[in-house]
Amino acid sequence: MKLLEEKIRREGRILHGSVLKVSSFLNHQMDPELIMQLGDEFARRFANDQVSKILTIESSGIALALAAGVALRVPVVFAKKHRSSNVFGEVYQTTVHSYTHDTDYNIVVESEFLRSGDRILLVDDFLANGKALEGLLELVQQAGAEVVGAGIAIEKGFQEGGSLLRQKGLRIESLAIVEKMEGSDIFFRNT
Ligand code: 5GP
Repeated sequence: MKLLEEKIRREGRILHGSVLKVSSFLNHQMDPELIMQLGDEFARRFANDQVSKILTIESSGIALALAAGVALRVPVVFAKKHRSSNVFGEVYQTTVHSYTHDTDYNIVVESEFLRSGDRILLVDDFLANGKALEGLLELVQQAGAEVVGAGIAIEKGFQEGGSLLRQKGLRIESLAIVEKMEGSDIFFRNT
């Protein structure tokens, strides 16, 4: 999606360890107009898939998931990163390895919010090694629900998550795919 690529080119900052910082419009300060447009684009791509619910991980996926949820008119659930005191009753949970923080954390969803008849669209801000998406897939599997695909804002095509998960049959729609980052230059895959 050209609009997103141009924004990344203008405002993205490359950090050590192949981390792309987009804190000026997605991960810290948020550009509401752009995020709503990304949500519309996810909705357009999954318009014929009878999505019944969107699932993301707190915190950076929430704005995008909400934008897609408005466009698709479905509820949005975010997996919480810790079992907190206000999570009661039966839960689905699994462990995810964080690429950016190099630690493991728990993700939790109360079981009443994912049901076996649900058709789930996964949404996240970045796809790198695929661990966050794998964690969400695991929660959906525990619920016995179905995944229709994943909507990702920025996929880092030079990391293995996208190809591994596509090989396993997951439909992934990434709005921008970064092919490589060199110095301060960012190169995109033609999508
Ligand atoms: P994965 O689990 O696919 O390795 O990484 C995806 C998760 O890590 C995303 O939820 C995102 O929050 C974070 N992440 C991975 N790579 C980047 C990056 O280059 N920049 C930012 N800002 N977050 C990233």
